[in-house]
Formats: sequence, C-alpha cells, structure tokens
Amino acid sequence: MVDIVLGSKQTDQSIEGQFRECRAYAERMGYTIVGEYKDEHLTGTSDNRADFQRMIEDSNKKTFEAVLVYQLDRFSRNRYDSAIYKRKLKKNGVRVLSARENISDDASGVLMEAVLEGMAEYYSVELGQKVERGMKINASKCLYIGGYITLGFKIVDKKYTIDEQTSPITLNAYKMYDNDHTIEEVREYVNNQLKIIDKRNKKGELVQYSKGAIRNLLADKRCMGTYIYKDTETPNAIPQIVDVNLFNRVQERLEKNKQSPSRLKTTNDYILTTKLFCGHCKDMMVGICGTSRTGKRHAYYSCNKSRKKLCDKKNVKKEDIEDIVVKEARNILTDENINKIAETVVKLAEQEKDTSTLKRLQNLLNQNEKQKANLFDSLKVCDIDSVRKSIFEEMVKVDAEHSDIESQIQVESSKKINLDETQVIYFLTKMRSGDINDIKYRKMLITVLINKIYLYDGHAIIFFNTQDKEYKVKVPTIEEAEVRTNDTSAHQRRICSNFL
Ligand SMILES: [Zn+2]
Repeated sequence: MVDIVLGSKQTDQSIEGQFRECRAYAERMGYTIVGEYKDEHLTGTSDNRADFQRMIEDSNKKTFEAVLVYQLDRFSRNRYDSAIYKRKLKKNGVRVLSARENISDDASGVLMEAVLEGMAEYYSVELGQKVERGMKINASKCLYIGGYITLGFKIVDKKYTIDEQTSPITLNAYKMYDNDHTIEEVREYVNNQLKIIDKRNKKGELVQYSKGAIRNLLADKRCMGTYIYKDTETPNAIPQIVDVNLFNRVQERLEKNKQSPSRLKTTNDYILTTKLFCGHCKDMMVGICGTSRTGKRHAYYSCNKSRKKLCDKKNVKKEDIEDIVVKEARNILTDENINKIAETVVKLAEQEKDTSTLKRLQNLLNQNEKQKANLFDSLKVCDIDSVRKSIFEEMVKVDAEHSDIESQIQVESSKKINLDETQVIYFLTKMRSGDINDIKYRKMLITVLINKIYLYDGHAIIFFNTQDKEYKVKVPTIEEAEVRTNDTSAHQRRICSNFL
C-alpha cells in the first residue's frame, strides 16, 4: 500500500496535476492508495505544514508502507529536514518514492541529503561525541599510551613511528594475503622474517605469530594510519604502512573467508529498491522471489513492465547486482573523493542554514517585551480599578505568550545542525571500512552514495550521488525460464507486501 503526499514549493505542475501523475504511477506499479495529503500554501517550515506533519504522525500507525511524492524535492523544504523526516519514516518502515524519475538538477543537494541521512541514521547521537573525542585526542597528537605495539611500528618520544626493520614484513603480509595466499602461508613468512631479524619480546623470547595473531595484524587499522584509543578511531593520525585500498581489499577477503555461507540470510531485503531501473524501458525494477526448475528459491530484481510482458528485460539475481553495486560504492570512497564530498556537503549545509524562522521568533519576542513594558507603564499611571484589572489580565496573557515564544525558539535552535568537514570526513572514512556482508552497512553505502542504476542485459550503468562519473559494470544475466511465472495479480500482491 502506498500513501500519497505532495508538498512544498511552487512548481511547473498544479497540485491537481501532481496528484494525477502520482495516481497514474501508483496504478502502474500496482500500489493501493490509502490516503492523500496536500499542503497548498507553503510558506513556513516543514514543521508548520499541517498535512505533512499529519502524514509523519500517521506513519506511526503503520497503515502504509510508502509515501509517494511527485518529485523528491517536493518532499521537504530543505535537505536537512528531508533527511530527518525520511529517517523518521524509515523507522516506521515507510519508504519515500517519487512519481517522477529520481533526477535532480541540484546534484550537490542530493549528495548532501544522502550524507546527512546516512549520518543521522547510522551514527546518530554518537557522531558528534565521537568526533569530539577524536578531535581531543588529535589535539594531544595521538600519542602512544601503552599496550601492544602493532608490528611495523616503533615508539619514539611516545609517537608512533615507522619501524624500518619490521614495517616491510607487515606490508608484505598484507600483499601476500591480497594475492590469495592463505593465512598459514602468511604466518610462515612473518615468523621466518622475525627469526631473521631476531625480534624478541621483553622477556627475551623470540616473537612468533599464531594464525589468530596474523588475522589481527591483517585487520589492524593502525596499519593504514588510524589511531585507536578505546572505541575512538582517528583516521590518518599516525604513519601509514599499507594504503587504504590494500587494507580494504584485505578486509574484504578476511570477511569473505570468515562468513561466506551466511550470505543468503539477507535475501528478503531488497536494498536496491527505488534505485534500480530497467535500462530498456526506464521503469523501476523491483524485487521478486522465484523458483528455479530445480525447485530452489531465488531472489531477483525484475523490470516492472517485463512482468507484464511489456518489456524484454531479463531478471537479474539479487545478490549479483547488489554485490556489484555495494563494491563499486565502496571503491569510490577514495581520499580524494571523500575530501571533495565533505567540501561540497559542508558548503551546501552552510547555504541551507535557514535562520528565517528563528529571526521571526526573535522579532515576536521583542514585540512581546515592548508590549509588556507599555502595559506596565499604563498600569503605573492608571487609578481606575476596572481598567487596572483588564490591564493586569492583558499582562498575564502577554506573559504566557512570552514563554511560549521562548520555548519555540529553543526548539528551533536545537534543530540546527552544525556540520564541519572533519565530521563528514570522519563519517565517510569510517564508511570505507565496514563489514561488506553486514546488511546495515550495505544499505548505508547505497543510501549515501548511489543515485540510480540502469540495468541492461549484461551490464549496468551506475550513477553515484557524487555525480562526477558514470560507471559501466558487467552484470551476469540469468535465463527468464528459470523463474516460474505466476499470474500477475498474485505477483502484485506479493510485491506490495514484500518490497515496500
Ligand atoms: Zn523494462
């Protein structure tokens, strides 16, 4: 079921025209409309839009699974509000869809909203704190504070310093594992090298690594220059032994070898829904379950029109396309791109900082105070009891208004977000090194980085929110014959309950 909400900004389309297009879209996609919301005069903040607020409120009741808007930029007044409200909806299992294709002329706006949404959703309260703590540690120059020293480093004047003797061993261990050597082979190499240089611990014993210790070394973020203090990580704070790309490739292989069989657990979460489009007919592709000739159940993405035999796009295996997109998303998080994204996002956040509501409230407060002073003056010179009484009543009313405005000011000020580049860089750098099999992490990469994907037979074109490049990637096809076709109506019902 899909609910319709329209809103915000004057447009090329009348409200009625927007509704018409939304209804047509809903019908095309097989959605049931359970309600419509509209706010025609939109001058205030999102919070003042009565119908919009009602829609957000209604999402708590969980009677609908998606909100359909005419165009995504109609959803909210500014990107920050949009990210916050989308997050509220998501918590209630509600997605935001748009009747028009997800193309915006405002590319950096899309990116900023995506980053905000990701930061709000995945690092919520922690973010500010962690960055702050990270900064404090940064200020104290990321000094060594005791404990185990990662192989490849030595401590000079309490500072992590590259150890010329052991750092090549660490680097080679990473390279070997990246080149498909086993943990055991890496262990043999490391232990041989340690013997050659006669590396001894404090007790004078020869240092030798177990397989577990090798795994730890290969997952130690200090090797890529991250300073770690308790649960706080500060990227690029100490010298780097391996570059970030090598480090990430090694993490991917470690994770894959650790838990490849459990990948299918995520089958029913179609993380590309709303972002994946058919390259042939440009309609949206949605997740479906099918049964192969061998009786095995498989998850696919399928073109909306092809299910009605109106398009010849073949289905694609869910995991295939998702894996490809997730990996490509992670790969664009280079240092250079991260800095670029952070710069763009912060610049725009500054521009969008809307202080008009605060200013208006501040004016109201000033007026209120003047009013109260005037009333007080009149009271002083007035000696008619009945008039004094009504002045007094008026003063009580003005007082009540005063505290009301004050609390509104408080609410409004607390909503302001102060983004700085360090925060965004921290968030994105952290995003570069998540567990590639973790569904939450996969979703985050898609939310933040992927704008849309056009899928053709055999390849796909990925558009990132960064909008600087399009990427063409290979995608394996499967034979449609593998999917047992059901009748369309049964199909549609399942689409609604499963994928929205
Ligand atoms: Zn199609």
